[in-house]
Amino acid sequence: MTFRLPPLPYAADALEPHISSATLREHHEQHHRGYLDKVNRDVRGTSRADWTLERLVESARSPLLEQAAQAWNHEFYFAGLSPRSGRPRGALADAIDAAFGDVAALRREFTEAAVGHFGSGWAWLVADARGRLAVRALHDAGTPLREGGRPLLACDVWEHAYYLDRKHDRAAYLRAFWRIVDWEFVGENYARTEPFASRASDPVALRDAS
Ligand code: MN
Repeated sequence: MTFRLPPLPYAADALEPHISSATLREHHEQHHRGYLDKVNRDVRGTSRADWTLERLVESARSPLLEQAAQAWNHEFYFAGLSPRSGRPRGALADAIDAAFGDVAALRREFTEAAVGHFGSGWAWLVADARGRLAVRALHDAGTPLREGGRPLLACDVWEHAYYLDRKHDRAAYLRAFWRIVDWEFVGENYARTEPFASRASDPVALRDAS
C-alpha cells in the first residue's frame, strides 16, 4: 500500500499562540510527510509493500524502522493536540491520581522527562496491561509500540517541533504544550484495548477527514 499524509485534525493556525501555524505547517507538511515518503520508497516492490504502518514499526529493521516509527509517532502527536484542551476525566483521572498523586504531579514528571531529555526524542505517557500509568522518555524515533506500554500522549522534543517559535527554549515549548493537550484523546487511548491505529493507509478515514 502507499501511505498518504493524514490531514491535521484541526486548522494549521488552530493551536496559536501556543504553536504557530508556521511551525505546524513545517512539521506536518515537511517532516511528517518526509517520513512517510521514505517509508513508501523503501517498501515499494518488497515483501513489506502491503504491511500496515503498525506492522512495520513492530517488525521492520533499521533504517526503515525509524522512518515508520517517526511517521506513526507524528500522527499520534498531532492527534493528541487540540485548541480545546479540557481536563482528564473518569477512569483516566483515577489512573493519574493513582500513579502520580494528581494531574499537576503528572505534568511535573512528564515535563522533567521532556525538558531533561538529552538530544532528540519523545516524552510519552503510557499505560501498562493493568492500566497503570508511567512517563517514559525515548530517544530519536523511539515509540511505545516497539518499546512497551500503550501510548496515551506524546510530546515531540526534536528541535524541529519548537525551534521556529521558541528557539532553544524547550521548557517554554512544554509550557505551551500543556495548554493544548487533548485530554479527551488521552482518555480515549486509556479506554482502548489496542493502540491508536494510523490512518495513513485508510482511504476512507483520509477522505472523511479532509
Ligand atoms: Mn517531529
